[in-house]
Amino acid sequence: NRQWILASRPEGKPTEDDFELAEGEVPEPDANEVLVRMRYLSVDPYMRGRMRDEESYADPWEVGEPMRAGVVGEVEESNHDAFEAGDVVTGNLKWAERSLALGGELTPVDPDLAPISTALGVLGMPGRTAYFGTLEVAEPRPGDTMVVSGAAGAVGSVVGQIARMAGARVVGIAGSDRKCDWLTDDLGFDAAVNYKEEDVREALSSACPNGIDAYFDNVGGEITDAVFANLNVDARVAVCGQISLYNAEELPTGPRKLGTLIEKRARVEGFLVGDFAPRFGAATERLGQWVSEGELRYEETITEGFENAPAAFIGLFEGENVGKQLVELD
Ligand code: NDP
Repeated sequence: NRQWILASRPEGKPTEDDFELAEGEVPEPDANEVLVRMRYLSVDPYMRGRMRDEESYADPWEVGEPMRAGVVGEVEESNHDAFEAGDVVTGNLKWAERSLALGGELTPVDPDLAPISTALGVLGMPGRTAYFGTLEVAEPRPGDTMVVSGAAGAVGSVVGQIARMAGARVVGIAGSDRKCDWLTDDLGFDAAVNYKEEDVREALSSACPNGIDAYFDNVGGEITDAVFANLNVDARVAVCGQISLYNAEELPTGPRKLGTLIEKRARVEGFLVGDFAPRFGAATERLGQWVSEGELRYEETITEGFENAPAAFIGLFEGENVGKQLVELD
């Protein structure tokens, strides 16, 4: 039973040396426990924070211990009334081919509703982040211009489509022409900016001739500075992620454009998807309806093989994924 262990705390961008593949016994389920065989492992940007020995909204991972991730798997053995062998479930489990969970830590996944991998993407945590962050924090209104950074990722690609359904004109920022074409041609974004090729501030001024009313920030840093330079009066900024800074050893001092917020009476609000947990069920149902009606499209980048999980994770910081990055086990 292979599992990935955190071998060392990365300095700067994680490397494969920070991970160690270890072999262990297949565990035996105790009372109320379920043995789950992993089918899909989710790699997520927030995991970079868990690798640091720093206080955060969640405890750091320990060096020498297995890491944890959102997982979809199949029940192999169950000592819990709610589950039986063959059930498909999702939960936060170890990065291990097989692991134990208490029944209460697992949620059933209905394989007839949608491909089971979506429980980690558009119908899972990233989809719900997009749903609440857009509708309740960024609050796009009909006629607004809304900008999304990290637009071709798991969260960003859903954000833009929800904002369009809310009646906004949507401009995405992403790191390649291929991603930008996907946003405009397949997902219905009104415009897209390739931040690796274009001067973002100038590109935004021409893509947003009426300024920016709402901004969903997945990346922070200079891209966000460029957005701030184009904000309108009463703009809303939803701070979801700051991936451009996750590998930084030293952070730049302070947000640099707060003067803009005075002039524009703008609201900047950070949020955590977990705070909306009591309403996850309703959000997932709504997202599922949109997907089945063809209103919401999604993409997954699937890396094959448990042994390639660290590479898939590191790839997030190089923009290798379109939509949700997953690892599929044989
Ligand atoms: P993504 O699927 O968007 O993957 C990460 C993407 O970030 C990459 O594909 C890459 O795309 C982009 N990226 C990487 N490095 C940089 C950089 N230096 N500058 C700009 N863009 C970069 O991940 P998720 O959708 O899962 O997460 C998106 C963000 O939302 C993350 O910041 C994450 O931490 C945050 N998040 C926050 C939650 C909350 O509750 N607040 C919950 C879930 C996620 P490109 O090719 O465009 O560079």
